[in-house]
Amino acid sequence: MPTSVAERARFVERETRTWWDRFGTTYPRLNRVATPKVEWLRRGSTAGRADLRRWVVAFNRPMLRRDDGFRIILPDTVVHELAHLAAFHLYDSRGHDAAWRGMMERMGVPPRRTHDLDVTGLPGVQRRWRYRCGCGEVQLSTTRHNRILRGTQIYRCARCHRQLERAED
Ligand SMILES: [Zn+2]
Ligand SMILES: [Zn+2]
Repeated sequence: MPTSVAERARFVERETRTWWDRFGTTYPRLNRVATPKVEWLRRGSTAGRADLRRWVVAFNRPMLRRDDGFRIILPDTVVHELAHLAAFHLYDSRGHDAAWRGMMERMGVPPRRTHDLDVTGLPGVQRRWRYRCGCGEVQLSTTRHNRILRGTQIYRCARCHRQLERAED
């Protein structure tokens, strides 16, 4: 198993081509369709994206730093995004509809819409802080959390008007 981000990225690019060939074996009409180009997302919590117009799949490169992130990208995210392109080409499918789900199942990957990776620390991902008011729990950004810690700002719930307090972890 590759360990560096650069090696893992090359591995994912190769495996994307291999998976596209498997799609072609299962759905022969895809054999004449070009292999999608792979691009890399540099920030955010999205594991992958499919661009139907540009025929591109993109994956979250910082996730490759972590073993659990790498395992989410390959094979789940790779197959998830390729299935968007394949289902669009064959069935004019958009989004996570029945055609897309059916393809995921046939390719042997669970048709999950989102991943459950802890995204704390990924570039461009804000940590959320748990606070409480009279109606329940709310999540605050680090910017707001720091203002409360510094005492420069008090936040009240718009509904119950109670001052937000830090929730116990
Ligand atoms: Zn999707
Ligand atoms: Zn409230």
